[in-house]
Amino acid sequence: SIEVRGLNKNFGDFVALDDVDVTIPTGQLTALLGPSGGGKSTLLRIIAGLEKADTGSVSIEGVEATHLPAQKRNVGFVFQHYAVFKHMTVAKNVAFGLEIRKRPKDEIEHRVRELLELVHLSQFAHRLPSQLSGGQRQRMALARALAVEPSVLLLDEPFGALDAKVRKELRDWLRRLHDDVHVTTVFVTHDQEEALEVADEIVVINEGRVEQVGTPDQLYDEPANDFVMSFLGEVT
Ligand code: ATP
Ligand code: MG
Repeated sequence: SIEVRGLNKNFGDFVALDDVDVTIPTGQLTALLGPSGGGKSTLLRIIAGLEKADTGSVSIEGVEATHLPAQKRNVGFVFQHYAVFKHMTVAKNVAFGLEIRKRPKDEIEHRVRELLELVHLSQFAHRLPSQLSGGQRQRMALARALAVEPSVLLLDEPFGALDAKVRKELRDWLRRLHDDVHVTTVFVTHDQEEALEVADEIVVINEGRVEQVGTPDQLYDEPANDFVMSFLGEVT
């Protein structure tokens, strides 16, 4: 599990995270859901080790991670505007993390083939990212994040820039991928419907505070407060 305890983060005198406690169970697909500016990305970046909290602790699958840099946390991440290597083929992009870890060449080839199959991009292995659709590029980014077998996968609005139809395809596909791979996954969205349809459990965040943690059914049936009730009520 990912255990976040007593996390505080200020930017100047603005409170971005206010005493956040949350436990994200191993093997689940968990959504961080909330309105814009609520602190979702800040929390995810602190879990990833890309940002430092002012106070509080993070442990990841039993490893105390609060003071570990991102490279030592065994996390994979995909952000909305994830930088892909434009001059490298799809296969090379996916292989990148394995190559910097100096894995044997035949192991890398085997793993890349496996990953491209998983994300249904086998026939595009030798294309450049610019020759893919937006949805295919995000699938490539997911394959790249999975390449190094992270214990945790962190996704910050990975489908946010895509049109509604592709978004829906990708979120169904993320659900199926997760059912296959079962890696602990935290997935940020401000889209209630996306969270309710895809996630095992939802953490609702607003103004730097956790409003409620529960399954989609729990949030629907027993919203903890007016905020959760009205925020979920905006589902169209
Ligand atoms: P969105 O859905 O729009 O991505 P979010 O929930 O991810 O929103 P965060 O990016 O975590 O929100 O930001 C939370 C608050 O912290 C916002 O009010 C934002 O302006 C502020 N903030 C984030 N990063 C910084 C920074 N580097 N400096 C100053 N303020 C920041
Ligand atoms: Mg954000």
